[in-house]
Amino acid sequence: MSKKNQYFDVIVIGAGPAGYVAAIRCAQLGLNTACVDDWKDDNNKPSLGGTCLNVGCIPSKALLESSEKFEQSQQEFALHGIEFSEVKLDVLSMQARKNKIVDELTGGIEQLFKANKISSIHGRAFIKPERQVVITGDNGEQTISADNIIIATGSSPVELSSAPFVENKIVDSSGALAFDGVPETIGVIGAGVIGLELGSVWRRLGSKVIVLEAQDSFLPLADQQIAKDAQRHFKKQKLDIRLNTRLTSAKVKDEQVEVIYKHGDDEQQLMVDKLVVAVGRCPNVEKVWHESVELLLDERGFINVDERCETNVPGIYAIGDVVRGPMLAHKGSEEGVMVAERIAGQQHEINYELVPSVVYTDPEIAWVGKTEQELKASGISYNTGAFPFAASGRAKAMGNTSGQVKIIADAETDRILGVHIVGPHASELIAQAVIAMELSASSEDLALMVFAHPSLSEAVHEAALAVSNQAIHVVARKKR
Ligand code: NAD
Repeated sequence: MSKKNQYFDVIVIGAGPAGYVAAIRCAQLGLNTACVDDWKDDNNKPSLGGTCLNVGCIPSKALLESSEKFEQSQQEFALHGIEFSEVKLDVLSMQARKNKIVDELTGGIEQLFKANKISSIHGRAFIKPERQVVITGDNGEQTISADNIIIATGSSPVELSSAPFVENKIVDSSGALAFDGVPETIGVIGAGVIGLELGSVWRRLGSKVIVLEAQDSFLPLADQQIAKDAQRHFKKQKLDIRLNTRLTSAKVKDEQVEVIYKHGDDEQQLMVDKLVVAVGRCPNVEKVWHESVELLLDERGFINVDERCETNVPGIYAIGDVVRGPMLAHKGSEEGVMVAERIAGQQHEINYELVPSVVYTDPEIAWVGKTEQELKASGISYNTGAFPFAASGRAKAMGNTSGQVKIIADAETDRILGVHIVGPHASELIAQAVIAMELSASSEDLALMVFAHPSLSEAVHEAALAVSNQAIHVVARKKR
C-alpha cells in the first residue's frame, strides 16, 4: 500500500463481526472499501475478527463443546452402554483445538477480504476532520480518507477498581479462556452471559465454581419463569450462584485470590485459585477521533446514533458494541449490512424488537420478543403455552430432557409476542421463533404447520398448540 493519501468510498474501523461484515457488504455493493484493525494475536500476528473470533464467541463455544464432551464421558456415556476404564483430560490439547478453530476462522476473513478486494490495513485508526483517517502501524503512519466512515471499534471488559486485573489470577473473559490447567476453585464476579458460560466450562472440567452476582434476581432480562428453570438446573449441576452479593475487594494472597464480599449485611471471605471478572463490557470510544470531529456520545458513553446507525456527523456511522442496544455479534453484523446498503443507496432497516438472545450453557437459554414480566408491566393481555422437553421423544432419545419451550401470544390477536426456551439446542430452535415473529405469525399459524418427528422442533409446535390448550403430549391445563 502506498504511503500517499488514498481515497476510498468507505473506511471501516474495526474488523469484528460488525466491521468485517460491513466491509464485505460494502465491497459486494461495488464500494471501494478499506478496513482498518489493530488486533494482534498472542504471536504478535495481525488477526481479523475482533473479540468474537479471537477471544469471545468462537473460542468460548469451542471450550464449551469440549468441556461438555468431557462431562458427558463421565456422567452420561455409561447410560448409553459405553464404558471405558479411564478418562484423561488434556487441557493443552483442548486449548490447541480452540486456537486452531480461531486461526482458521480469522484466516477465513482474511481470504474473504482478499476475494472482495477490500484493502485490509493493520494499525490503529484515528479520525481527523474531513473524514481523514490516520493509521499508525508497525510500518509507521499513513493517512487515508473516504466519503464515509463506519466506526466498529467494539467493546472491552469492564475492570473493577475493587478487583484490578492481575495476570493469570484476576482475569477478564480472555484470561479465563486461556487457563492451561483446571483450577481447583474459581470465583466469578457477575452471573451474566460471560460469567455463566465460562463458569460452566470450568465447572464441567472439574473446578468448583462460585459465582457472585450483585442483583437479587437471576438473569433479569430473561423471562423469569425460564430463568428460574435454568437456575434450578445450574443448582443441580453444583454451579454455586450467590445472588445479592457485592464485591468489596479482591487481591492476590499466597498464590490464591482473597475475595471479600457482602451478602446482604454480612461480610464474607472466599479464597479461590482464579477470579474471573465478568461484570459487563464498555464501548471502545477512547482515542478513536480527534475532538474537532465533534462526535457525540450518549448518556451511557456509547457513540450516539439514530436507528440507522448515523452519528451526528454526516458521513460517519457507528455500529456494533460501540453503540446502544445489546452487545451481540449478530446485532452488530446486521447493523453492518444495514449501513453498507444505506451508503449504497438502498433501503434497509433492522427490527431491533426481534434480536434473539442466547446463553450457551447446558441447558442453553434463548429468547426473542417480550417476556411475561414486560407484558404485565405494559398491561398487554396474553396467553402462554409451554411444552417440556421431558415429553419430547427426541430429547429423551438424546438423554437431554431439561427445560421447556414457552410461547407467549397476544390474547386478542394470537400474534406471537415472545418465545422463550431453556433446553437442548435452544440456540438453534430460537431461529424458528424469529422467522415466525418476523412474518407476524400467530400461535395458531405455528400450530397448523407440520414439524418433523422425532425432532426437538416438535417442542416448538407443541408449545404453540399449548397456547390454545391443544398440546398432544402433555395433559391439558384446564377444560376448554
Ligand atoms: P452482562 O451485563 O451480561 O452481566 C454482568 C453481570 O454482572 C450482571 O448480572 C451484573 O448485575 C453483574 N455485576 C456487575 N457488577 C457486579 C459486582 N460488582 N459484583 C457482582 N456482580 C456484578 O455482562 P457480561 O457477562 O460481562 O457480558 C458482556 C457483554 O457481552 C454482554 O452484553 C453480553 O450480552 C455479551 N456477550 C454475549 C454472549 C452471547 O450472546 N452468548 C456471550 C458473551 C458475551
